[in-house]
Amino acid sequence: MARIYNFSAGPSMLPEPVLQQAQQEMLDWRGSGMSVMEMSHRGPHFMAIAEQMKNDLIELLAVPANYRVLFLQAGASAQFAMIPQNILNGKTKACYVNTGAWSTAAIKEAGKYCEVQVAASGESTAFTTIPAYADWRVDPAAAYLHYTSNETIHGVEFNDIPDAGDLPLVCDMSSNILSRRVDIGHYGLIYAGAQKNMGPSGVTVVIVRDDLVGLEAKNTPAVFSYAQQAKADSMLNTPATYNWYLLGLTLQWLKGEGGVVAIEQRNIRKANKLYQAIDDSSLYRNPVDPACRSRMNVPFVLADATLDKAFLEQAEQQGLSTLAGHRSVGGMRASIYNAMPEAGVEALIEFMAEFERTH
Ligand code: PMP
Repeated sequence: MARIYNFSAGPSMLPEPVLQQAQQEMLDWRGSGMSVMEMSHRGPHFMAIAEQMKNDLIELLAVPANYRVLFLQAGASAQFAMIPQNILNGKTKACYVNTGAWSTAAIKEAGKYCEVQVAASGESTAFTTIPAYADWRVDPAAAYLHYTSNETIHGVEFNDIPDAGDLPLVCDMSSNILSRRVDIGHYGLIYAGAQKNMGPSGVTVVIVRDDLVGLEAKNTPAVFSYAQQAKADSMLNTPATYNWYLLGLTLQWLKGEGGVVAIEQRNIRKANKLYQAIDDSSLYRNPVDPACRSRMNVPFVLADATLDKAFLEQAEQQGLSTLAGHRSVGGMRASIYNAMPEAGVEALIEFMAEFERTH
C-alpha cells in the first residue's frame, strides 16, 4: 500500500490513524456486533458516539455555554441560504464582505432573501488582499455581517476577527476551522463543511448563539430551521451517521495531537516553509498580500505556464497529488490542512526545487 500526499482542497487528506481505526471498527464497532453505518441513530451506541463527538468539538473550540452546536447536511452551501432564512429576523438587509469565490457564492445566495450590502470587496485586486477595516461600510440596520475567514480558492485568510459593532458576526470557517485558535464568543454564528479539517464531506457544523435561534422565517423548511434542529439535537431527521462517526474520530485524533494550540503551531511551520520556498524561487509566485496569505490553501503560479502540465504530471509521479489550482483561477494550489503531515509539505518543497533546477 502506498499512500500519496493529497493536496486536494476538499475532500482532503484524513489522518491515517483515523482511517485505520475506522477500518478496525468497520465490521464490529466495539463489541456491538455491527458497523456504525448499520446502527439506529436513536440507539445507545450511536447516541454515545454523537455525544462524544459534540463534546469533543465543544472542548476543542472552547465553545461557550450560550451557543448551540449543530451537525447538519447539504454542505456549507446550504448555510448560504439558511443563514438569511434563520437570522434576518424581519430585517431586509445583510452586510457581506467579499474576499473571493466563496464569499461571492454566499452573497449570491443571500440575495434571494434580502438586500445584500457588500461592506467591502477585494475584487479590484483580483482577491489578493483583504480590504482595510477602516474602509468597510457596515450598515448598523442590517441583520448581520458575514465574512469568509479563509478563501479556499484565492488563498486569502483573516488573521484577526473583524469588528462588526452591534451586528451579529457570521463567519464561513469551512476551510480553516480547527486549524488555529479562535474566540467563538466574538461570533453570532460560525459554520463549516467538514471535508477539510474535520472529516469526510456530508456534515456541516453550525455554532450559533442562543439569541439567534428561533428567529427563522415562517416558511423555513423544518430541517433547515436552527431552532428545530437544536431542539432535536441535530436529529430532526436521520443524520449522516457514519460521517458523524468519522468526524468524531478526527476530533479524537486532534485532541491526541495536542488540540488546536498544537496544530496551529504545526500549521504555521508548514505554511511558512512553503511560502518561503515560493518567495525564494524565480519560477514560482504567490499573488496574495503576505499579510493575509492563507495557512491552509497556498495558490501559486509558474512563471512559464507552459510548464504547468509537466509540473503536475511529475508531481503526481512523486505521489504529490491534486496540485492543480481551482478551474476558475488556474495555476497551482497546495491545500495543507491539519491532516497534511509536515513531511508532505517538505516533499512538495523538495520536488518544486528539483523541478525548478531541471526546467
Ligand atoms: N465555503 C468555503 C470557504 C468552501 O471552501 C467551500 C467548499 N470548498 C464551501 C463554502 C462550500 O462547501 P460545500 O461544498 O460543503 O457546500
